[in-house]
Amino acid sequence: MASVNFIHPPDYKDITKNKKIETALPPKKAILLLSQHTGAPSEPVVSVGDSVKTGSLIAQAKGFISSNLHSSISGKVVTIEDSPHPIIGLSRAIIIESDGLDTKAYLNSVSAKDISALSKEEIMTLIKEAGIVGLGGAAFPTLVKLNPPPAKKIISLIINGAECEPFLTCDHRLMLEKSKEIILGVQLVANVLGVKNIIIGIEENKLDAIESIKSVVFRMKADDLKPKVVSLKTKYPQGGEKQLIKTLLNKEVPSGGLPLDIGIVVINVQTIFAIYEAIYLRKPLYERVITISGGFPNIAKNILVRIGTPIKDILDYCGLNPKLDIYKIVMGGPMTGVAQSNSKAPIIKGTSGILVLDKKFKLEEKELECIRCSRCIEACPVGLMPCMIGLSSKKAKFDIASSYDPFDCIECGSCSFVCPSNIPLVQLIKLAKVKIKA
Ligand code: SF4
Ligand code: SF4
Repeated sequence: MASVNFIHPPDYKDITKNKKIETALPPKKAILLLSQHTGAPSEPVVSVGDSVKTGSLIAQAKGFISSNLHSSISGKVVTIEDSPHPIIGLSRAIIIESDGLDTKAYLNSVSAKDISALSKEEIMTLIKEAGIVGLGGAAFPTLVKLNPPPAKKIISLIINGAECEPFLTCDHRLMLEKSKEIILGVQLVANVLGVKNIIIGIEENKLDAIESIKSVVFRMKADDLKPKVVSLKTKYPQGGEKQLIKTLLNKEVPSGGLPLDIGIVVINVQTIFAIYEAIYLRKPLYERVITISGGFPNIAKNILVRIGTPIKDILDYCGLNPKLDIYKIVMGGPMTGVAQSNSKAPIIKGTSGILVLDKKFKLEEKELECIRCSRCIEACPVGLMPCMIGLSSKKAKFDIASSYDPFDCIECGSCSFVCPSNIPLVQLIKLAKVKIKA
């Protein structure tokens, strides 16, 4: 990967970038999916009929790459059953009915003295117990990143505030409204990793957030670990870990490798905020900020929602009229998001937004023959040949597809976006990955 290719899709961020974070009402019924992170599904520790509080542990991590799960409301466990999942279709879930009280199971305040007395191990244990996973989308358990094998010395910590996906502004608003808390979270993580080189990368279409974070850094004490705040040119998919590393440090993660293989840890800003809450408030991860946007500006918001809230409840809260001419509802952004067919599917830890798209976002869907224009190759940020993988996958020639490194694909969607023949390259590449793995 000598240089990184980027594209410039319209960003549609004006719709919500000036909208302050609102707090949604907790749901009457929370659907808490056991598979909402990378790794093994969590294992229930509650039974039907049990009473739980907001923040109570309801399922625990099963193994190293897994995550704890907490109730996002107070109430009673009514069933544990298969439920609609916004990404994988169906997954086992703990369903909790609210008692309307929202009684909290955690402290909500810890003295500065108690926090400064925490050892690295204690901080890592609290992060693990709080069920924190990467909130930029991948939902990879954060503890794994903070606990690299002894042979892998971490030199740099990158805080990902790029938020390059069109429409989404939840990270932008969080950086603007919670700058101080984010910097406290950054210090915790830097201490755990023992790194001094800390960089916060934010795209220049969020100038107010850059200024806000910089002003907190400016006021830090002389002996504090000071991050460098870097304004990045706006381009897609700069928020991908490997692309951000290339932009900020001019280093390349080897094919099939991880950032920690070259001494780097990348953590999204919203994950950092969750770490701050886990340590300073002892609050488990049961809510997050998402963006509601798309073709209906009157419902657009940045909103703090409880994990497990059905999509329909959120859209009702935002005032969506279901009689409107809706073309598609997408969880996530338009480039990497997943179209939703069941509005009973809930918000999960990795949900960054819900887009309600109208007809003007309807793309020409008639698929044509590949004209060998090579635009997909020029657009690929990883230097792959998407046409070769995609077209081999289409013909079920997965052995050929596997020879073009499909597992290096970060599923950014740039190839599909630029293809003049409307070939759903990213879907075909995802299919190839599944088939080759199988
Ligand atoms: S989806 Fe994969 S193959 Fe397509 S441009 Fe992105 S990284 Fe490259
Ligand atoms: S962009 Fe589309 S038409 Fe052009 S080479 Fe790639 S797959 Fe073929």
